[in-house]
Amino acid sequence: MSTAAKIILFATPVFLLLIAIELLVDRIRGTKYYRLNDSVASLSLGVFSRTHRLIILSLATIVYAWLVKALSIPQLPQDKIWVWVLGFVFYDFLYYWFHRMSHQINFLWAGHVVHHQSEEFNLSTALRQSSSGILSWIFYLPSFIIGIPPEVFFVSGALNLVYQFWVHTRHINTLGFLEKILVTPSHHRVHHGQNELYIDKNHGGVFIIWDKLFGTFQQEKKETPVIYGVRRPLKSLNPIWANVHTWSQLFKDAIHTRHWRDKFKIWFMPTGWRPKDVQKTHPIKKADLALFKKYNPATTTSISLYALVQFILTVTISTWFISVMHHSEFSLRLIFWIILTLPLITISMLLENQPRSKWLEYTRLFVTALLLFYFQDELSQLSSVLFSNLALLFYLLISFVWLTLSQPALPANNTFELSN
Ligand SMILES: [Zn+2]
Ligand SMILES: [Zn+2]
Repeated sequence: MSTAAKIILFATPVFLLLIAIELLVDRIRGTKYYRLNDSVASLSLGVFSRTHRLIILSLATIVYAWLVKALSIPQLPQDKIWVWVLGFVFYDFLYYWFHRMSHQINFLWAGHVVHHQSEEFNLSTALRQSSSGILSWIFYLPSFIIGIPPEVFFVSGALNLVYQFWVHTRHINTLGFLEKILVTPSHHRVHHGQNELYIDKNHGGVFIIWDKLFGTFQQEKKETPVIYGVRRPLKSLNPIWANVHTWSQLFKDAIHTRHWRDKFKIWFMPTGWRPKDVQKTHPIKKADLALFKKYNPATTTSISLYALVQFILTVTISTWFISVMHHSEFSLRLIFWIILTLPLITISMLLENQPRSKWLEYTRLFVTALLLFYFQDELSQLSSVLFSNLALLFYLLISFVWLTLSQPALPANNTFELSN
């Protein structure tokens, strides 16, 4: 496993611990910055963005390895501190431009939007990551052209990502002189705002200096409390829909428009741009921010707890499997990916109080049971305890009984939403 992958993997339990601490502080202070359904949705997207790499290799890794070999670009010395400092700062500079463009161009926003869909803002929001951002490597090519060694680049990327975790909190106000140099929680709260004043501001990853230099900086204002989320709300907890929501809108518009030029143009136009004819034939009403309400479907305690337990199991097994997966065959990785992705979908539907969600969860348990027992020989080589007959039967039986005894919320309460 590469150093960059190790950094992300070892950071994961630390992230989860810090989320638990922030949750505790939230309960003690009574700030109510955490909602179970929102956090499970955000964390599901984090898990999903990691587990899909079980079956799809990162395009960036392949492209960089090939480029370095094919072009035989002279490399800066990896054992010099200044190369690491340069690599880290330059990475953040390139990240700034990639992130800024991700907010300003339709097809890049379709990938990045996932990180911004949450209407809450807490440490769990940090792990809300897209699975469809496949072209980011293009923005980082200058790093290779100036000869930053791949190891320095990938470690810088991992450290940059890890840094961005802690700025997703409302419990830290401002941090004195650090506000001038680094991206702080206050700066990043602005970045997640959908208020007119805050939209498309503060794109830096580690350093805020890029925003100050290139005119995208905005201070957080007390008189304008941040309204978190996006102007075309997702209104769903489903991780798959979160990833395809904006893509599907762009595809629909591209199909609906009668002008061939617009069918191509739409992808590269500023975020929110729609062909003129489609604006008339398929209008989308922009929600009034003054009437903003958070999406928060009704649920019951037993369904919430059931979803939480299934989710914790999925996260634990995902983290464990990613750490051992490099020994596994592709077919086994695919099976694991299915076993770990299905609960993320059914949990979201249970928490959305969807009418058939309980039946879908029964089906998911049945499919999981079939897969687990069919592949038990291979699985028990990975862990003989986790995949023993007894452990599997215990898990399936408890899940089945718990689900059967859990009453969903009344559909009448389903439209319940929180005002900001
Ligand atoms: Zn962003
Ligand atoms: Zn963020």
